[in-house]
Amino acid sequence: NSDIMLELRLMQYGVDQVLFLARDISKIHRLEEMRRDFVANVSHELKTPLTVVRGYVEMVQSTEHALDPYWQKVFDTMETQVSRMDRLVEQLLVLSRVEIHMDEEEKHLVDMPKLLKALIDDAQWLNQDKGHTITHEIDPTLALEGLDNELKSACSNLISNAIGYTPAGGNIHISWVKDGNKAKFSVKDDGPGIRPEHVNRLTERFFRVDKSRSRDTGGSGLGLAIVKHVLNHHHAELAINSRWGQGSEFIIYFEPKCIRSLSVA
Ligand code: ADP
Repeated sequence: NSDIMLELRLMQYGVDQVLFLARDISKIHRLEEMRRDFVANVSHELKTPLTVVRGYVEMVQSTEHALDPYWQKVFDTMETQVSRMDRLVEQLLVLSRVEIHMDEEEKHLVDMPKLLKALIDDAQWLNQDKGHTITHEIDPTLALEGLDNELKSACSNLISNAIGYTPAGGNIHISWVKDGNKAKFSVKDDGPGIRPEHVNRLTERFFRVDKSRSRDTGGSGLGLAIVKHVLNHHHAELAINSRWGQGSEFIIYFEPKCIRSLSVA
């Protein structure tokens, strides 16, 4: 337990100091736990009323009688805002799940080539209107020992960010390959890039470089916080290479101990 480790390490500085710090840390842990539970409960409770409101909006939108332009606009706006809130609640639930993550959760063999191909197919299908060129290179033998839901969530967040922040007609390259003794997942785009002073803050909860632009793309500011937590459970690290005005590359490096091999026929 990290409290005890810290307490032992601090023993050399005197008993009073150790007791004070140990108590303080357990209080911080308790508060942090309460915050996580609170967010998880609120998000969960919001789901039902949201589903009801969405149902009514969809019902009105699908009536045979055309609405007059004023009411059409009102209901279109309601639909957009309800969808945004839905996505936000969904992301909050995913974040609470990965934050609360239990170590005893069973890791298993994750067929990354299959998981990534499905994500890329979905991305291509759902974003045809943006006219992006999405290319990929996937090592068919490279798998991981991990949690498939979490890995899917991390990879799909990086892919949807590249698609969302790159202006129409951009180029996105996704790769899953060996790099030395590590496995490397990379999403590279030729979008706007990120200023150096913002790069270190990207994985903070609710941090968005440009709030209004992020809102337009349906962003919540939680995607990269989710990625960070997932990587903490998977012996992996995030690297961000980006230059303002020259695109970005988000890379996940997985340590050799979680790499597995698939045999391909
Ligand atoms: P969001 O839901 O707002 O996309 P994220 O945590 O996924 O939240 O990303 C945080 C911020 O990082 C975004 O609001 C955006 O400003 C920036 N960002 C993430 N990916 C990219 C990218 N590929 N290109 C440019 N900016 C990006």
